[in-house]
Amino acid sequence: MSKEKVLIVGGGFAGLKAALLLSKDERFDITLLSNEIDFRYYPTLYHVATGGSRANASIPLRSFFIQNNNVKLKQGEAISLDRKAKTITTQDDQIYEYDTLVLALGVVTNYFNIPGLKELAFGVKSIKDIEKLKNHLHQQLIDDHKPDLNYVIVGAGPTGIELAGALPDYLKHLMKLHGIENRAIHIDLIEAGPRLLPRLPKDTAKAIKQRLQKKGIKIYLGQVVQGETANELTVNGKPIQSHTVIWTAGTANNPFFSQNGFVMSANHKVATDIFLQAEENIFVLGDNANTPYSGMAQTAVNDGEFLANNLIRRKDNKIMKSYVAKQPITVIPVGENWAAVVKGQIRIYGFLGWLLRQSADAIAFHDYQPWIQAGRQWLTYYGSEETCSVCLQSIGTLKTR
Ligand SMILES: Cc1cc2nc3c(=O)[nH]c(=O)nc-3n(C[C@H](O)[C@H](O)[C@H](O)COP(=O)(O)OP(=O)(O)OC[C@H]3O[C@@H](n4cnc5c(N)ncnc54)[C@H](O)[C@@H]3O)c2cc1C
Repeated sequence: MSKEKVLIVGGGFAGLKAALLLSKDERFDITLLSNEIDFRYYPTLYHVATGGSRANASIPLRSFFIQNNNVKLKQGEAISLDRKAKTITTQDDQIYEYDTLVLALGVVTNYFNIPGLKELAFGVKSIKDIEKLKNHLHQQLIDDHKPDLNYVIVGAGPTGIELAGALPDYLKHLMKLHGIENRAIHIDLIEAGPRLLPRLPKDTAKAIKQRLQKKGIKIYLGQVVQGETANELTVNGKPIQSHTVIWTAGTANNPFFSQNGFVMSANHKVATDIFLQAEENIFVLGDNANTPYSGMAQTAVNDGEFLANNLIRRKDNKIMKSYVAKQPITVIPVGENWAAVVKGQIRIYGFLGWLLRQSADAIAFHDYQPWIQAGRQWLTYYGSEETCSVCLQSIGTLKTR
């Protein structure tokens, strides 16, 4: 009997989970197509941006399939879908056939057409973004021998807050490595909405606000960014001088869906049925799908697992199960040794929250790897990585003392 060709596009939280689970069943012929060669562990990208080891947030996709040859791993950017021929074509004109198509492409950054942002602002959504930001932070200290007048983070969602929480200590550390005397560092967190973290309870937003303020972060709410030039950011009509603007304030669904005629819901996510099916034999998962908790890694993992189990049920001639959204736990670290944890009515702040966050990372890695490998991956959190020659020299000198 010929195998069912399952083409999974997107090697992120949802796509990788589905591929790993389906690969255990010989009745499927699985291809995992992704435009990047790595799996990005987004929750620790802020940590990599502030001196952590790159390995902590970027894991080669092939490492998940070393002892698993039931998945063909391919690199390429899917650009078009031919529903009649049942194929996906990539930017480099490769054509992939499918019987069942799974789309889990994640979201892209949205600059809302604000002048200058796309060209000038830094991001924290990919390893490339982070390397660019880190190079800039170092180069500025080399060129000016002092920190920027203002470091501006736009967006007080989890990503902006995590970065804001870790940035002061990192910048102080860098100044030390660069031999710059201790000077005041100005970090602004700018948010268009009336409060931090609108999707989380008010008391959590308050606790996080206090923690950020204790770390010296200035928070500006109700402030709308209007444009960026090489030297300043315009916010509510007023300029803020800065060469370091980090944009974390907007995402949009992957353009693949609008470009390929998918039916979208009002919030610009792809409309699906109770099986996460957008069209016959085309399933959409994770950040792309219009589910109640779309936009979180745990949801994407659940979606990947849900779909794999359902495809196996269908193969066994069993009725597929209906999708049940699971409320994820939110964990937001703010600087070392402090995190806020929210699940329903439960709130935990401080060091215990931090320990829970560390355990959550270990469990998340184990979602994809056996415990020994996941443990090694988790330990990479404690590694650091600098490529700047001044820092490397300082670190070398400190070690030989
Ligand atoms: C900085 C940051 C921090 C976050 N922190 C947390 C957190 O702490 N907790 C939490 O629950 N959630 C967090 N999230 C959200 C979480 O990462 C996402 O919800 C999750 O990654 C969604 O999984 P996904 O599989 O839908 O998409 P992704 O994990 O983004 O995977 C999409 C994959 O598709 C690939 N791809 C994209 N376009 C194409 C194409 N055209 N062709 C081929 N491949 C393509 C991408 O390279 C990627 O590998 C964070 C997000 C960001 C940006």
